[in-house]
Amino acid sequence: MQDLDASKLSVTITMSPGKVPEPDSEEVHNMKTCSDHMVKVTWTDDIGWHAPTIEPYGQLTMSPIASCLHYATQCFEGMKVYRGFDGKLRLFRPDKNCKRLVMSSARVALPTFDPKELEKLLKAFMKADGPKWLPKSRPGTFLYLRPAIIGNGEQIGVTAPSEVLLFIVAVCWPDLSSGTRPGTAPQPPGLKLLASKSDVRAWPGGFGYAKVGANYGPSFVSHMEGRKMGYDQILWLLGSDYQVTEAGASNFFIVWETKERKRELVTAPLGAKVILEGVTRGSVLELARERLATGSTYLTSDIQKLEVIERDFTMLEIEQAWKEGRIVEAFLSGTAYFITPVSAINFRDQEIDIPMGDGASGYYAALLKKWLRDIMYGNVQHEWGVVV
Ligand code: PMP
Repeated sequence: MQDLDASKLSVTITMSPGKVPEPDSEEVHNMKTCSDHMVKVTWTDDIGWHAPTIEPYGQLTMSPIASCLHYATQCFEGMKVYRGFDGKLRLFRPDKNCKRLVMSSARVALPTFDPKELEKLLKAFMKADGPKWLPKSRPGTFLYLRPAIIGNGEQIGVTAPSEVLLFIVAVCWPDLSSGTRPGTAPQPPGLKLLASKSDVRAWPGGFGYAKVGANYGPSFVSHMEGRKMGYDQILWLLGSDYQVTEAGASNFFIVWETKERKRELVTAPLGAKVILEGVTRGSVLELARERLATGSTYLTSDIQKLEVIERDFTMLEIEQAWKEGRIVEAFLSGTAYFITPVSAINFRDQEIDIPMGDGASGYYAALLKKWLRDIMYGNVQHEWGVVV
């Protein structure tokens, strides 16, 4: 069986190149504009991974009895490529996304591969489309990259697919962390969360830790209900004790003080396998442990030293901390919303308002966001910023 091998890549250049939209234009906000090309690799159960191609971006065709259309044999990744202020194109910790895609693929009985080969394909793709779609004249901009794997063989039998397609597209994408919501009047800063009621996103023994489409479609009902009620994202709770897991398609962090007035940065743990191990989450934890948990030059009267903790915690604890005035701030972390402060959580029809610092971007959230941005856009040299 053949392994995925980026050295076998062949490239076919498009004869009908697209127009790069203006930043923040309608074409960016509608999230439908893709770059000129896409990566495709077929896997079949007789040969393994075929030779990868970069070809003109275009529609896929598949049989109505393709496995992914019926049995959710599908998984994907979400990452970005950034145009740095030093003129270079960078991926942010692409090794993490590539490994996560392999893990997700295995969870839904799709084939695995060497994640390093996928990273090579991502770089080759961005070497081809990056220069035009993220021009040097627009430092500080990004494209969203969507690698996906689908069981696309003609196969209605209830079993793992015998033919699979891995593809990667690059999509023009708005800056959702700026707080502006497409098509609406300027909104107050911060995200409003609605704590989930009866709906559960993921459960122990399930697949909440994998980035498979089956985790997303069923969450849209709650999401739409939340939107109707004026909330931006669902804060997913689990169990009769209202454990806080994650929010929308982001991880959730809270900064609070204990009753003994010790400051903590808390997020849900990975052990129960119900939350996605966000690349941003891991980066926040690492930076916070390195720079905020010890006496460091970053500490000020607003940014006080804190302990960084991954543990189960509940909405009842948040409610209690709120009543006692111990909440410092809360924020979401993820590729799409990046680091965005939370302004309120509706829990059992009660609105818990969350402080967001002086400038409404959170003290810790703003600092972590700056540190990560500096790496992504090459303001500082860091091993997490991988030049294409
Ligand atoms: N949780 C879920 C359910 C997600 O879909 C995402 C987005 N991939 C995240 C968390 C954040 O992960 P990351 O930081 O890798 O984007």
